[in-house]
Amino acid sequence: MTDKPIFVVQLHDARRLHYDVRLEVDGVLKSWAVPRGPSLDPVVKRLAVFTTDHDLEYASYEGVHADAQYGSGAVIVWDAGIYTNLTRDDRHQVVNPAQAIERGHFKVQLHGVKLNGAWAFTRTGDDWLLVKVRDAAADPAVDLTVTEPRSVLSGLTIQEMAAS
Ligand code: MN
Repeated sequence: MTDKPIFVVQLHDARRLHYDVRLEVDGVLKSWAVPRGPSLDPVVKRLAVFTTDHDLEYASYEGVHADAQYGSGAVIVWDAGIYTNLTRDDRHQVVNPAQAIERGHFKVQLHGVKLNGAWAFTRTGDDWLLVKVRDAAADPAVDLTVTEPRSVLSGLTIQEMAAS
């Protein structure tokens, strides 16, 4: 096992399909609902709605929620891995993840099955934007939400999970 903080992206077929992007910070999963999912194109800004913290154990959850505790509907683990905090302040000092979220700018390096490279969460008013930082993992030609629809745990699509 690793002591690096984890991240997970769960595809959730609730009233509206969305991607729940969750990063481990101080023992909980800080969470953003991203309706259109992450884009590898650095010019694309994806709306990310900050939502309730989840328990770390929830990171490996997939199945079909019967009740509304976490929002009803099917869930698959669309991506999972670890991340490195890249957030720096104006003087290039490390800003810890909790502080970064408080200040509204959180930059991370993802090491997932599908998502890699640097990503930035930036608060704008009530909501946040999730943007791919320009680097070798950026690729405007590839839409992973289309090319890589399956769970990294079970291999199921969200439709297959809903029918299971
Ligand atoms: Mn959700």
